[in-house]
Amino acid sequence: MGVLAQKGEPNHSGCRNARTYRKSMNLLALTFNEFHAYVHAQTGRGEFHARLLYASLFKKGDINFSAIPQWARYANDADSLQNQVILPQQPSAIASADGTIKFTTRLIDNSCIESVIIPENNRTTLCISSQVGCAMGCTFCATGAMGLVRNVTTEEIVGQIFSARFYLNQPIKNIVFMGMGEPLENFDNVYKSLKVLNDQRGFDISFSHITVSTSGHINGINRLATLGLTNLRLAVSLNAATEVVRTRLMPINIRYSLRDLKAALLAYPLGKREVVFFEYVLIPGINNSLPMAQAVADFCSGIPCRLNIIPFNAVSSLPYAAPTPDEVSQFYRYLVDLGLFVRIRQPHGTGVHAACGQLAGMRM
Ligand code: SAH
Ligand code: SF4
Repeated sequence: MGVLAQKGEPNHSGCRNARTYRKSMNLLALTFNEFHAYVHAQTGRGEFHARLLYASLFKKGDINFSAIPQWARYANDADSLQNQVILPQQPSAIASADGTIKFTTRLIDNSCIESVIIPENNRTTLCISSQVGCAMGCTFCATGAMGLVRNVTTEEIVGQIFSARFYLNQPIKNIVFMGMGEPLENFDNVYKSLKVLNDQRGFDISFSHITVSTSGHINGINRLATLGLTNLRLAVSLNAATEVVRTRLMPINIRYSLRDLKAALLAYPLGKREVVFFEYVLIPGINNSLPMAQAVADFCSGIPCRLNIIPFNAVSSLPYAAPTPDEVSQFYRYLVDLGLFVRIRQPHGTGVHAACGQLAGMRM
């Protein structure tokens, strides 16, 4: 039986309530080794039995543990463990004309996070939120305008993948931490969730399919650098490559200057074929001139990198305009002529406020 048959009744907001057992541990936040140790302590069962449960939970989304034949003899233990899985609430999802699905999850304290499923060719990407709101205050970003409400917990991060795969039945292959929040401000939960997502006995998503995007949180980048997460993709929201303009767009630049950011990236241990991905939100009249492009090329020199131009997505409360297609292609041309490897990232899901920088719980 899948999890869809396990959930409670819909509540007044149309969401379904998660089961309401008293729990001592949320199993959704555990790597296999932790899970195994917990199962052993609770039931005396060994690795073989723990593996079956872990695979059922993370590969099938099925928590009906006592239905696993090898657990039939220990049905009481299986039921007790099943009761300790706190599943995410059923999300409310809306699809955009381009196939993008934005879903909103109501958390235990009633705050909401948004996640976006982007089907592209034969790989489906899930964009997840690491914080409710964001403290970084970038002046072009709807999430930044909310301020920070709180960090998202490990199980709430993992829960977004769980929901996308098993509630919404989407074949998620890639994860990008590009939803609400600055992931490196929530380092411990993000790091823990990376280990859970990567665990081969569970979700089994390789680091080369996971991108952590940061506004340039040098302390977090330096911490990541020490962890040996080979092939994890690092994206940095550059958005301007002069101190003055970047500070205007991204207040974090006061705390972590471009100069120090470059030093941190030069020291970051990239594998042979790895690169840093820079994101550049293009805002006409602010960061789209030729001198701005030259500053980008200067900043990027020496760093193996790719650059994604993201045309600014209009947010009604913010004082910037979206670029025209001509403005985007002109800036693209400047950068290519300067020798950079550049792509233009087309916006996804603008019709449902699911595009970059538009996530702020606008459609709950
Ligand atoms: N906080 C992290 C990750 C989430 S933001 C970071 O800043 O990297 C994800 C991306 O959306 C960032 O590259 C950001 O620059 C971009 N973004 C924010 N607001 C935007 C907007 N209004 N239009 C287009 N992109 C935007
Ligand atoms: Fe936060 Fe990223 Fe938005 Fe800046 S762009 S406010 S860091 S979510």
